[in-house]
Amino acid sequence: MADDNQLPLPPVERVRPGLWSIPVPIPNNPLRYVLVYAFETDKGPYLVDAGWNTDDAYATLVAGLEQAGFSVEDVQGVLVTHIHPDHYGLAGRIREASGAWIALHPADARLISERYDEPDELLERIGSMLRRDGAPAEEIATLQNASMPARPWVMSVTPDVLIEDGDEPEVPGWDLKAIWTPGHSPGHLCFYEAGNRLMLSGDHVLPRITPNISFHPQAGPNPLGDFLASLDKVAGYDADEVLPAHEQRFVDLRGRVEALKAHHQQRFDEVFAAIREGHTTAYGIAGQMTWNKPWDQIVGWTRRSAVGETLAHLRYLELRGAVRENVGEPSAWELVDVAYRA
Ligand SMILES: [Zn+2]
Ligand SMILES: [Zn+2]
Repeated sequence: MADDNQLPLPPVERVRPGLWSIPVPIPNNPLRYVLVYAFETDKGPYLVDAGWNTDDAYATLVAGLEQAGFSVEDVQGVLVTHIHPDHYGLAGRIREASGAWIALHPADARLISERYDEPDELLERIGSMLRRDGAPAEEIATLQNASMPARPWVMSVTPDVLIEDGDEPEVPGWDLKAIWTPGHSPGHLCFYEAGNRLMLSGDHVLPRITPNISFHPQAGPNPLGDFLASLDKVAGYDADEVLPAHEQRFVDLRGRVEALKAHHQQRFDEVFAAIREGHTTAYGIAGQMTWNKPWDQIVGWTRRSAVGETLAHLRYLELRGAVRENVGEPSAWELVDVAYRA
């Protein structure tokens, strides 16, 4: 992964006439960059996503906009797919430079203050969740605070526009429609551009990696159930091409949706197998699942995400009646119906 971070960013690219893709760097992250999309209009450009709030990211975005023939001062609006720092963090700085509006789905907008302004109570709830998950006492503090290093890279700002499912954001000359796709975050939005049959998929559907779907205090009762329903929702669109927020653009949205669904089916089987083998805590079950690295190399934020992802599978199965939580510190999970297929 260290090597990946050395790779140059992909170029600023004209995706369609009047539509540009601008890679904006994410520091110390294997994803390396977020793709900001810029729609050209008579009034000025409109952006989908923003980037992290670092000087380097901002300079790269400004330079990318210039390469596409725009000035950051002319940006009219920033449609933010969701409130994760790599998408939302820089939106405030763009607004300061341009007066552009910032748009978010209300289900993400309402999480901002607790997450970025006054996180103490949220951290408390994350701590109790980790104890209930069975995280070892010596790891709790590290895992509990694992998202705090990202905080300086977010300018916490209130959106000017709230976008609901089916809304058509004001981007003159483009036929954009918002699709609410909760799962990766409660207010995640995709945008479909009907004129060019393009799906701007944010982090909801990526070509190679599977988005993190975690159960955590701000996730709602069944984030994985939401995510799987949101996959079916975007598969209903006949997109010629998908423009994701990371990696690279790709075709065959429906094929990718099927692959993601199959992936989670496999994860359910891994959860059942781990419980059958006697692992009863969410933390213990997480240690038995397949990750892209050995468990002992998964640390800090990534480990917390892995436990959250395991818990999202457990909650989904619990609501289906397949597993049961014996609540405690830690909780013990057991199979209800061993013959159950998710
Ligand atoms: Zn995200
Ligand atoms: Zn992202």
